[in-house]
Amino acid sequence: MHRGKVLDNANNYGIIDCEACGFIHIDPVPSKDDLDKVYREEYYRDEKPLFIQRVIEDLEWWESVYDDRLSLLESKLPDERRTMLDIGCGPGYFLKRASVRGWRCLGVEPSMQAATHARSIGVDVVNAFFDSTFPERAGRKFDAVHLSEVLEHVPDPASILKASARLLNSDGVVCCVVPNDYSPVQKVLKERLNFRAYWLAPPHHINYFTFDSLSGLLKRCGFKVIEKTSMFPIDFFLLMGDNYIGNDALGRASHLRRKMLDIMLSDPELKDFKKEMYGTMAKYGIGREMVIYGVKE
Ligand SMILES: [Zn+2]
Repeated sequence: MHRGKVLDNANNYGIIDCEACGFIHIDPVPSKDDLDKVYREEYYRDEKPLFIQRVIEDLEWWESVYDDRLSLLESKLPDERRTMLDIGCGPGYFLKRASVRGWRCLGVEPSMQAATHARSIGVDVVNAFFDSTFPERAGRKFDAVHLSEVLEHVPDPASILKASARLLNSDGVVCCVVPNDYSPVQKVLKERLNFRAYWLAPPHHINYFTFDSLSGLLKRCGFKVIEKTSMFPIDFFLLMGDNYIGNDALGRASHLRRKMLDIMLSDPELKDFKKEMYGTMAKYGIGREMVIYGVKE
């Protein structure tokens, strides 16, 4: 089954570059039952108590991030095709933004707190785990599927992507956002500045993708990769000597600075450059998160 070179160890898990899966993941892989309770009840309460509040504080920035993503999706689909499924929709602000732009939306979210919040802002949500039975239960298809910060958390990301393909109309587009780990920047931080592998977070983060490994997985799950881009490389602050690891105040300050930069770069004067810049970063494996779009083949 799972086998490959051990890259690191963290929280009693090995981190292996799995030859069977084609991407890096923790070993052993937790079972779905282990994770069920965590994401249904505990995650937003214990692991991310400030998450929803922070999204609201950061909403202007999130809307600029979502607008970039929605513009790209809209450019790949005819005007009349605007149905969206957001798998792991969290508190619902991506779908809220999409609906303002004319999309008809549905979210799936296992956390009760997050699903309740999404409903309170008018987003239609199924409070459930997304699994391979969902396409048959949904009884409808979509023009786009959004999977943000999901694939790193699940024991079998291939099954989620294959189910997403079944939920898409022909030529439908999937947008995947995951942390960019074992990146060139992290390599330099480790080798030149003695950072440990601070990005490891088992068992919550099971899988650790690179641009190449996620692109390969998308291909194996029935998608043609059509676009790769990045989110701001917040780890550049580490390269500049601002060590925010384990320092929440500095981490927040760094986040506020990248937020402001992103919002300023969204100005019509600079937004073409912004798109080009993040596309170029993706080419070099740079960016704290990667955003990869695939069209159903
Ligand atoms: Zn594996």
